[in-house]
Amino acid sequence: MSTVGTCREISTNPSNPECLHFIRSCLAECSDNHQCFEPTHCPRLPRRLLHIGRQNNDVSLHEPADEHGVYAILSYCWGPTLDNLKTTLATLESFEKTIPYAKLPKTVQDAVVITRKLGLQYLWVDALCIIQDSHSDWEVEASKMGGYYENAFVTIAATSSERAAEGLLKDRVGVLPAKPIFFHEKDGKRVKIMTQQRKRVLWPTPLHDLGPLSSRAWTYQEHALSRRMLHFLESELLFECQEKLISEDGNPIGDNQTSLISHFRRTLGTSPQQLWRFSTTAYSQRNLSFVADKLPALSGVASRLQQATGFHYLAGLWKETLLEDLLWTSWGWEEYDKPPLVLEAPSWSWASIHGGVAFQAETTEVLHIYPRILSVTCQSPPGNPFGKCGHGRIEITGPVLEMELIFNGDVDDFGLPSYKLDYDGGSVPLFSPDTSLDETTFLDRGSGATVRTAKRSSEPPVPIAAKVWCMWFFGTDQKPTEMKSFFDEEPLSLHGIVVGRVSGESEVYSRVGTASARDMQLVSQASEQRISLI
Ligand SMILES: [Zn+2]
Repeated sequence: MSTVGTCREISTNPSNPECLHFIRSCLAECSDNHQCFEPTHCPRLPRRLLHIGRQNNDVSLHEPADEHGVYAILSYCWGPTLDNLKTTLATLESFEKTIPYAKLPKTVQDAVVITRKLGLQYLWVDALCIIQDSHSDWEVEASKMGGYYENAFVTIAATSSERAAEGLLKDRVGVLPAKPIFFHEKDGKRVKIMTQQRKRVLWPTPLHDLGPLSSRAWTYQEHALSRRMLHFLESELLFECQEKLISEDGNPIGDNQTSLISHFRRTLGTSPQQLWRFSTTAYSQRNLSFVADKLPALSGVASRLQQATGFHYLAGLWKETLLEDLLWTSWGWEEYDKPPLVLEAPSWSWASIHGGVAFQAETTEVLHIYPRILSVTCQSPPGNPFGKCGHGRIEITGPVLEMELIFNGDVDDFGLPSYKLDYDGGSVPLFSPDTSLDETTFLDRGSGATVRTAKRSSEPPVPIAAKVWCMWFFGTDQKPTEMKSFFDEEPLSLHGIVVGRVSGESEVYSRVGTASARDMQLVSQASEQRISLI
């Protein structure tokens, strides 16, 4: 839809001096009038930085020894990584002398230019400031990355670029030069009005999709933790801080309710657990190039939450709110073609699957909590408690109901597989599988009986008829308001997780989905049982 309004003229290319003036004035106003980045804030510098000299060919890798100072930081999509110049064990020494500017991807070249124009000496860029072929360097630096973004003077964001080769300082799309229109007033006086046709961005929610950068997993924390961000969009420049969200034409495009930076800071202080579930839900829908990065790419946010709450982190969940956190539901897994079975996390963690997740305890009022956690063990890598977690075990006791999981190949109105979860006396109205499912058969060591149970699968759904167990977690008081009139049904008020047995060990289970029911009697139908969840 086209709209007409008044605004300041913007340049057709962000290299023009007016853009630099806009950036400088936003940063100055923020420093002078907001609490976003105190002028006295002089954080410890990252382990390595690009030192930006006076000329483009005067760029090198600098290792500050416990120095404090200010620096800019880049948030961007790599794109095909083969194209990009990286620091490796082989190039480290030569890059400490000089980094060949001409070989840098265009986005990094432009970030160097912008950093210099802002009068800053240092720029942090992941591909160059982390030794890309050193596992130990990557582990340590990945755990600090969130802090690097949080402490940066400004984050330069290549928001609308899919690849590092695209650059920031390039002609804008959909912005035409301003043109004069003349008219005469009643007294014959000639009046000139400048008009400009261009695209305009509105930012209605903290999770608004601003471009390719908004779809990448790593960049969620880069955005949320930054104090001030300069978004290079294809048609304009946006400045975002805790207090302001403004376009280069002088008009606000949102407010501090719609800014992710502002939302993060505000909610961190008031309801950190809500913030974690919000972050996890948003993050889980984003794309990762390497599945092993699932937990590391959110480790900065986790670390910040840990500082705020003092809680204990368990592979994407928190010990202090573990029951609510365990009741995540998978959605959108069908869109992922052959998801790898095992991401590096235990099955009870949302980080063990591809695709989006949501939390049920968030939207309902919990009246009854049924299970009790007996113990938790979770292995996190040395040096990064918020990184990968291959193994974790939860000992839990609660009401468990044996059920039959059936899929005979039918699909529902949306084309999704219709899994049916039957118990003695009926079917559960809602079963949400974590992934595509398959069945597995083994001999129980204790009884010698054959066990046919369900497990997650990375293949398309196949017909199954397998034994599973549902542990009821919560009974809720969901009001039968709009939901009831919409579906003409009673609300789902009982929620639990569904598990399959793991061969070789008795009473060891792995998660396959979640179930919701209306009939609270299903709790009394269940028997109290202790299980090990891995
Ligand atoms: Zn500010």
